[in-house]
Amino acid sequence: MGKVVDCAKVDPSTGCSHVVRGETEEALMKNAQEHAKEHGLVEVTPELMERVRANIRDE
Ligand SMILES: [Zn+2]
Repeated sequence: MGKVVDCAKVDPSTGCSHVVRGETEEALMKNAQEHAKEHGLVEVTPELMERVRANIRDE
């Protein structure tokens, strides 16, 4: 069982339906950072990281 986070929950303004997955929370955070780049977010702020972390759920 892995961890998932809905992009739309982290930032509803994107209107994105992508679900970021990871084997572990660490892997998920890494994948979330990669996905953030697709939204033009080159810099992932601690605030954004917190929002991702707050929305992580078990798959
Ligand atoms: Zn997205």
